[in-house]
Amino acid sequence: PVRTRFAPSPTGFLHIGGARTALFSWAFARRHGGQFVLRIEDTDVARSTPEAVQAIIDGMSWLELTHDEGPFYQMQRMERYKQVIGEMLAAGTAYHCYTQPEELEVIREAQRARGEKPRYDGRWRPEPGKVLPAVPEGLQPVVRFKNPLEGVVAWDDLVKGHIEISNAELDDLVIARADGTPTYNFCVVVDDWDMRISHVIRGDDHVNNTPRQINILKALGASVPLYAHLSMILGDDGTKLSKRHGAVSVMQYDEEGFLKEAVINYLARLGWSHGDEEVFSREQFVEWFDLDHITPSAAQFNTEKLKWLNAHYIKQTEPSVLAADVAKRLAARAVSVEGGPELAAVVALYRERVSTLVELADSVESYFVEVAPSAELAAQHLTESACSALALLASKLVLVSWDKVALSGLIKETCSELGLKMPQLAIPLRVKLLGVAQTPSIDAVLEVLGRERVLARLR
Ligand code: GLU
Repeated sequence: PVRTRFAPSPTGFLHIGGARTALFSWAFARRHGGQFVLRIEDTDVARSTPEAVQAIIDGMSWLELTHDEGPFYQMQRMERYKQVIGEMLAAGTAYHCYTQPEELEVIREAQRARGEKPRYDGRWRPEPGKVLPAVPEGLQPVVRFKNPLEGVVAWDDLVKGHIEISNAELDDLVIARADGTPTYNFCVVVDDWDMRISHVIRGDDHVNNTPRQINILKALGASVPLYAHLSMILGDDGTKLSKRHGAVSVMQYDEEGFLKEAVINYLARLGWSHGDEEVFSREQFVEWFDLDHITPSAAQFNTEKLKWLNAHYIKQTEPSVLAADVAKRLAARAVSVEGGPELAAVVALYRERVSTLVELADSVESYFVEVAPSAELAAQHLTESACSALALLASKLVLVSWDKVALSGLIKETCSELGLKMPQLAIPLRVKLLGVAQTPSIDAVLEVLGRERVLARLR
């Protein structure tokens, strides 16, 4: 059975790279009817925080990347790791090493002087017929994994292809520190084993850990999962994606008015493709997703494309659904939609003209609170003659039947009566009513605002 996991270290937000890894792991499990496990790798006690755990969980739940098992916390599994270390010591696949840090430094110095790669020299590694140094008194040993000396460790990476490393390149990894705490690579191995992970989908910053992890898994008699290492994501400018490129946390996209549908669609295309398809739903993605079409090269983040997708999804979303979101954004600005024009109707006028929900809220706000035009707009458009034209129009608006056809007829009639061109009346009207010179068609604006509000604002 397919079992995948997402294993973030809770040292910050769920960022774009992490969200993409989570999405691919989640989608692969869903595609194959398998399970998706959430594991929090919190052993770096100095850098892990409960707030970061919460931020990761919030980000995943916003994106609806629901896990079937977990969250498991590595800090709660310490006894298990220690147990496995004990078993490995007993089985002879790991050993105690008393080499002290200062001593290691001396060994490394000598190796560097000889032009060799610094590495542990195996002095405490037991071998048949080898006499080990005398155990020093009062010192706590670390535990090292007995890495094979010969041969290669190889795997067929599902993204990067065949990779192999000579065992001679790998020294005996410390799997438990002198204080008994297990080290990072070891915890990952025990977890992937215990959680019966079939496919490890993760960032390629971990590709160097994989040969070590595979060797330990083999020593444990565990089956080795398949690995898919995802290339990193670059910013718009081609450098590694970072804070400088704007939103760090996926939740910031929510704040900035991106729909989760757009973010999911966007992330899905970050390094994976299905022919020329650009716009597809989450369900469609799950149906199509495979590891064969992940590009081994780095993916480049493109904010414009994300905005374009967002505009597309906003257009497709029911005005009533958009209105619920916009009402919250307006409430956060202390703008109430109670007693105003029908929000969904106002939203419907704008949903094809914006690329974020923040822009949508900005656009519709002036329907609920009167916004005075800038001095510049007022000076340009609310001239004495424009104001007297608006006064004439207002007198006619008192009695006209309140629908688009009649309203547009009335505006035309007023224009010809005064010898004005359409924009000479419509623009001052927009500026007076909404504080801006550009709006959707003026008859539609009047219609949704309603007679009383229009007359009040014209007075
Ligand atoms: N905790 C690691 C990280 O956040 C991921 C480890 C893994 O997926 O094996 O980068």
